[in-house]
Amino acid sequence: PASETSTVDAAALETLRRVFGYEQFRGQQAEIIERVIRGGDALVLMPTGGGKSLCYQIPSLLREGCGVVISPLIALMQDQVDSLAALGVRAAFLNSTQDPAQRADVERAYLSGELDLLYLAPERLSLESTRALLDRGRIALFAIDEAHCVSQWGHDFRPDYLGLSALHERWPTVPRIALTATATKATRREIVERLDLGSAREFVSSFDRPNIQYRIEPKQQATQQLLRFIRAEHDGDAGIVYCLSRNSVEKTAEFLEANGVPALPYHAGLPASVRASNQARFLRDDGIVMVATIAFGMGIDKPDVRFVAHLDLPKSVEGYYQETGRAGRDGLPSTAWLAYGLQDVVQQRRMIADSEGSEQHRRNLSLHLDAMLALCETIECRRVQLLAYFGEPGSPCGNCDTCLQPVQGWDGTVPAQKLLSTIVRLKREHNRQYGAGHIIDILLGKQTDRVSQLGHDSLSTFGIGADLGESQWRGIVRQLLAQGLLAVTSDGYGTLTITERSAAVLRGEHEVRLREEASRPTRSAAKRRA
Ligand code: ADP
Ligand code: ZN
Repeated sequence: PASETSTVDAAALETLRRVFGYEQFRGQQAEIIERVIRGGDALVLMPTGGGKSLCYQIPSLLREGCGVVISPLIALMQDQVDSLAALGVRAAFLNSTQDPAQRADVERAYLSGELDLLYLAPERLSLESTRALLDRGRIALFAIDEAHCVSQWGHDFRPDYLGLSALHERWPTVPRIALTATATKATRREIVERLDLGSAREFVSSFDRPNIQYRIEPKQQATQQLLRFIRAEHDGDAGIVYCLSRNSVEKTAEFLEANGVPALPYHAGLPASVRASNQARFLRDDGIVMVATIAFGMGIDKPDVRFVAHLDLPKSVEGYYQETGRAGRDGLPSTAWLAYGLQDVVQQRRMIADSEGSEQHRRNLSLHLDAMLALCETIECRRVQLLAYFGEPGSPCGNCDTCLQPVQGWDGTVPAQKLLSTIVRLKREHNRQYGAGHIIDILLGKQTDRVSQLGHDSLSTFGIGADLGESQWRGIVRQLLAQGLLAVTSDGYGTLTITERSAAVLRGEHEVRLREEASRPTRSAAKRRA
């Protein structure tokens, strides 16, 4: 009945204002909270920074008993509990970092009904002792945070999450709310299936983050490009720079420091105390740039991160979206900047070929990568493409690089044929295959030592690509790799080979559309102009 609805709504709003100090609910928060307070299940898809926490915190306060929150972010539980305590909310956590006495305290508080919220690591919940404990108290609800971790084909799988389907069997009347910031239709289906959430109502918020400007540029000298970008647009701002390897994290942080940008490294190989203090400085001080592997950032709530830069290609669109989503949580203009080059494609294709696991698993990683590559190579609005990936329609945004500086497509069939036939001839006449560098030398007609030693200057394709420059050729190789018209062998040397689909190009049956690379001024050209 309507009157009951408004009582629930009024209580929720009163709690929002009194406890959390906010005036209004955002987006679908009110509907989600009402649903859970009434005992219904919910699946909440909301972008990072959208305000998911309140969706289970307020129902936990308003329902009888204690809200049990399952979260993989053990490192953040202390912070979460502390900030709730500061608001007067009685919260605690149970995880492997505590000693038995600390755990006993929390258990006692739970049993005597003194807790509003209890945070649990998923592996705790697989222990019968934990389940028995929960049985002896009163559970208000289960909140399953980062619910995409249940997806085996997703990018963030945690085996412990699979055990969470047992929640519903053991406590059929306790409402469950699953939350995630990452969900394609396929992940969503998997969450529903694996967590047995068939009865859940789905709340899907828009994934658009209009204040984030998306930019992807060809990689030349990545750290120099990064420095130029920071100096030109984000001098003195807080930002996050993602690198693939620990080594490049450290080098990049040193490089930025040496050039007057306050930067700190963060990766799993650093001692825990260093990680903690770097993270604390990043959160506390102004204008720090955190250079990190993707180990950094999950659950970090710093509203004024003005840019997120990627020096290496993310493995999936989900990852890219989640990482870039850490910029601009305060709604102010921010930049997502990615430098991407041929080597990224070569490296990632090789990592997939070398990865453990089933053929199906590798195919899945490839599909993730293909979608990411399509986003990099698109000549249409980045945001439209990004949102389309999450099943959301949109129109050109005016706030991404391709909208701001439209990119032309061009017919690259002839250069593609020159390149592919060079590979075919090398294989046929010399019975060997080579990497991009050597093949481009042949196309350009360069008399390198290697070319003359191997006699490759006698190939009929020697010098037929001299109408283009080296960087243009690298761009073409990259795009052909991205389109699956070239492949990298798994020998670890970036050796290129043709694919089944290249045959149609060589026969002239398939037109190759390429992206016109923005011609960037070379160093000397820039100097001359200055
Ligand atoms: P998520 O978990 O979806 O990434 P959070 O729950 O951490 O997002 O919320 C992001 C930020 O927005 C937090 O600082 C939170 O306090 C704030 N917030 C959430 N809901 C509201 C609201 N209704 N009004 C104002 N601020 C809010
Ligand atoms: Zn756009």
